[in-house]
Amino acid sequence: MSEETLSFQAEVSRLLRLMVSSVYSDQEVFLRELISNASDACDKLRYLAITEPDLIADGPDFKVEIKVDGAARTLSVSDNGVGMNREDLVRDLGTIARSGTSAFVDSLTGDAGRDVQLIGQFGVGFYSVFMVADRVEVSSRRAGEEAAWLWSSDGLGEFTVAEGERPGRGTTVTVHLKEGENSWLQEATLRAVVKKYSDHIALPILLTVDDGEAAAVNEASAIWTRPKGEITDEQYTEFYHHVGHAMDDPWLTIHYKAEGKIEYTGLLFVPTRRPFDLFDPARRHAVKLYVKRVFITDEAEGLIPSYLRFLRGVVDTEDLPLNISREMLQTTPLMRHMHQAVTRRVLSELGKKADKAPEEYAEFWDNFGAVLKEGLYEDHERREELLELVRFRSTAGDDLVGLKDYVGRMKDGQGAIYYIIGDDLETLRTSPQLEGFRARGVEVLLLCDPVDDFWLQAVPDYQEHALVSATRGTADLSELGEPEAADDEDPAEPAREADVATLIALLKQTLGEAVKDVRTSDRLTDSAVCLVADEGDLDLRLERMLKAHNQLDASAARILEINPKHALIRNMAERATQGGAADDLADLAHLLLDQARIIEGEALPDPAAFSRRMATVMAKATG
Ligand code: ADP
Ligand code: MG
Repeated sequence: MSEETLSFQAEVSRLLRLMVSSVYSDQEVFLRELISNASDACDKLRYLAITEPDLIADGPDFKVEIKVDGAARTLSVSDNGVGMNREDLVRDLGTIARSGTSAFVDSLTGDAGRDVQLIGQFGVGFYSVFMVADRVEVSSRRAGEEAAWLWSSDGLGEFTVAEGERPGRGTTVTVHLKEGENSWLQEATLRAVVKKYSDHIALPILLTVDDGEAAAVNEASAIWTRPKGEITDEQYTEFYHHVGHAMDDPWLTIHYKAEGKIEYTGLLFVPTRRPFDLFDPARRHAVKLYVKRVFITDEAEGLIPSYLRFLRGVVDTEDLPLNISREMLQTTPLMRHMHQAVTRRVLSELGKKADKAPEEYAEFWDNFGAVLKEGLYEDHERREELLELVRFRSTAGDDLVGLKDYVGRMKDGQGAIYYIIGDDLETLRTSPQLEGFRARGVEVLLLCDPVDDFWLQAVPDYQEHALVSATRGTADLSELGEPEAADDEDPAEPAREADVATLIALLKQTLGEAVKDVRTSDRLTDSAVCLVADEGDLDLRLERMLKAHNQLDASAARILEINPKHALIRNMAERATQGGAADDLADLAHLLLDQARIIEGEALPDPAAFSRRMATVMAKATG
């Protein structure tokens, strides 16, 4: 087949433009990416060769070689790993297939400084080589196949693929350095950088500069097998970057060896920043499974619960046979045991962090709390433990609160834990339904992650205190005492009870089926009205969400609560008793309900009628 010219996927072109013009200070990461890919390629072949030993008949010793040719101004990275055929080259070095890509590309802004930071979070892999190269050639031969291929590009939108030549399996990436990029030709610089990026890698990495001798740069033992005390923070971080395709620092590093019923080593990291694919619908975890130091898969279903999918790292076990198939993995009871053991360990480490370093834990919580909360309905066994790890915003201030703290400062006579769910914190903080709680000094938890609707259905209580929505009819405030009157104003005079009864009768009659009930409220101090859900009915926000997803047709009618101390209600009550104009009162009744709907964030069923009534009332007020 002769040479063919192909275009990069549009996303790749965008990314490459950024790379080429990049002012990214950390250019050396291109070497990390190339070494990382070479090591991944060897890992993949080592696994395949367990069942197909012929694939490595031409040499079972895996290695990575880095060579510099000062005269030609090239640097090459070679491996004898799995290699790529023509199809692989076109797909793997022409598109970005990784999950979260579209989210990533969408988030690029065109502002070079910010975009470079985003690239840092995403980890661009192979394409980063164009930061230092004006041409890159990749020669490759897939293990078990005869043909070799040559991929070549200047990173400006197109690449070519042609049949090539190559003595053995594997891949060589040859980097033609841009003018001025001279440091990558100097032995001392190169050695230091290569060492940094290969110290944690389990393969020998050999460096040859010009006509010098090949020299090993790293220890070539898997980092997780080494004693903790001998591993530096920098080595942990580099390994995290390698396994996690990440650029940030680990927020938490968990390295341990489990002995006993099952034997395995875990080296796990919690990122500092959210990975781009965190909310991918597949909710896949990203921890790699090794058996006796051999990479098996990064898709071991069931190894890590979905609600810990932010974890990166490896689990390496002694207790599985090396030739286990990926299908068998799913059914072996050992996976279940490891799943449990790893989960227990991670939750306990998170718990320690929450106790000892609450401020750092708050950062973790802001990134991954919404994911961890999925465990509250998915993992019954660990629910108690998870409830101790959950944090909330609340009406008590800006700090995060745990349930234990909340219970510790409950008011005398308060039996329940109160919460309110909504779409965002700011709206929640100003919600009229909270007025009565505030006035009585009762703390309310403010929840606004979509997952909150689900776990609250599954978790009825915490330490025998029921979790009760502040927007429910059952949230009985009267037993919590009278509101503490604000100092700067006289407590408002409530409407007369008889007048209120008349008004309620009138509202019920006028609003009919649109409300389930009308009653006075302890919940309100400043606002005139609010809507609450009856006991047994869906919480207001959950119902809105289900409707938005077409999982629910009709809404349940709500209870309209009115505040007898509010001037509007007082006036209406008097007018109702004195027999005011029926039309006027009917308009006001409808407006009251619509107002409650608006505050609640519900759509008005008849906006035209609302606007007409509003205009009538306003005309009277101005007339
Ligand atoms: P990532 O490593 O995160 O998948 P990269 O951009 O670094 O992303 O590489 C893209 C893909 O190209 C890899 O997933 C792999 O399939 C392929 N690839 C890159 N380098 C090599 C190599 N040296 N040997 C075999 N395949 C490679
Ligand atoms: Mg890579």
